[in-house]
Amino acid sequence: MPTPGLDGYAEPWRKPEHDDLAELARTFFTKEVVPHAGRLERQGHPDREHYRRAGELGLLGLSVPEQYGGGGGDFTHEAVLLHEQTLAGEGSLGLAVHSGIVTGYIAEYGTEEQKQRWLPGLCSGELIGAIGMTEPDGGSDVQAIRTRAVRDGDDYLVTGAKTFITNGGLADLLVLAVKTDQSAKAHGISLLVCELRDDAPGFRRGRNLEKIGLHSNDTAELFFDDFRVPAGNLLGTENAGFIQLMQQLPQERLVIGVGAVAAMQRAVELATAYAKERTAFGKPLLGHQNTRMVLAECATRTRASRIFLDDCIVRHARGELDVATAAMAKLYLTEGQCEVVDRCLQIFGGYGYTTEYPIAKMYADARVQKIYGGTNEIMKELIARVL
Ligand SMILES: Cc1cc2nc3c(=O)[nH]c(=O)nc-3n(C[C@H](O)[C@H](O)[C@H](O)COP(=O)(O)OP(=O)(O)OC[C@H]3O[C@@H](n4cnc5c(N)ncnc54)[C@H](O)[C@@H]3O)c2cc1C
Repeated sequence: MPTPGLDGYAEPWRKPEHDDLAELARTFFTKEVVPHAGRLERQGHPDREHYRRAGELGLLGLSVPEQYGGGGGDFTHEAVLLHEQTLAGEGSLGLAVHSGIVTGYIAEYGTEEQKQRWLPGLCSGELIGAIGMTEPDGGSDVQAIRTRAVRDGDDYLVTGAKTFITNGGLADLLVLAVKTDQSAKAHGISLLVCELRDDAPGFRRGRNLEKIGLHSNDTAELFFDDFRVPAGNLLGTENAGFIQLMQQLPQERLVIGVGAVAAMQRAVELATAYAKERTAFGKPLLGHQNTRMVLAECATRTRASRIFLDDCIVRHARGELDVATAAMAKLYLTEGQCEVVDRCLQIFGGYGYTTEYPIAKMYADARVQKIYGGTNEIMKELIARVL
């Protein structure tokens, strides 16, 4: 179904191969995962089998070079996958982190040996990836992290705690931000790839956090107490972690933006369809001027957002997406998502507040977009720095 207000719009980067990928992804999400949504929400995490199936279909690691088991594509392919996942209303698989972020760190900073060791498993779905930056004492001030890694022979001994880790309940591979130089702030941070096994001494998974939305995706606490990580699992060089994080964060923010625009599209589609069917005062809701105005504004916001997102995707493909522009995208697109979804929910009246209608879940799921990946207040700081 074409999205009202987006008819005839074509992303400037789109090629026929993206249409084939979109079709494959749509079929997978709608036919193989969404039918299990209720059960996945009750269990509070996705099925491993769905990761494996996504891997089998070639949907994981789309931007990873083929020699490591990936699709040999680029960020546009990841964007198509994430867009289709949100449009399908699928929220259990943490693909934004697994494929959109974790594989990128390993492909970018890993040695040849590290890439051969981890990327094929991430691309096949045998391994589930996560990234651990946030700690119980704070997430915005990344430089102030306290989890430390102290060199002990051929290993690092890691001690500390991380929280709010997407995919944290199931993750096998964690890109972990640690302090390797306690006396330094930003220049004391390193990234270690931790191979997580529940029976590993010094490692413990905490609670799967209960959230107001995203019920079928695991968001967990992770604890480390002299947990041994081979020194060979260091990504890049010691104390370069902050720069690596800053280099990757624009893509992370774009990943969030892709989800935001897809959610806006879906909200406008659902609300328009509902407004055509539901009658009040003897005519369809769409026949009332206020409903038409609201949907016209939401469709306009969605189209403008789509164009801004595509401009960022094109810049990113050229390696020219700067920190401030990525922050603007994250800010504008997630604020837009929350506003559009809220206004579309209103069109459903009381039904919009019941979980029988997808718009209610979309409302709860949207809220976190303004918080993770750097809060929107931090985005404004980043933008203000270049003014
Ligand atoms: C569902 C979910 C999934 C997540 N997934 C991950 C993940 O996979 N990996 C990971 O590492 N983290 C993850 N996070 C954590 C997320 O990135 C952090 O919650 C976020 O960065 C904010 O950190 P905080 O919660 O510690 O808030 P704080 O840093 O304590 O901030 C609290 C408030 O103060 C504001 N604030 C802070 N500093 C400033 C300032 N300088 N100026 C103005 N206002 C300021 C913030 O904007 C916020 O409103 C996830 C969070 C959630 C809820």
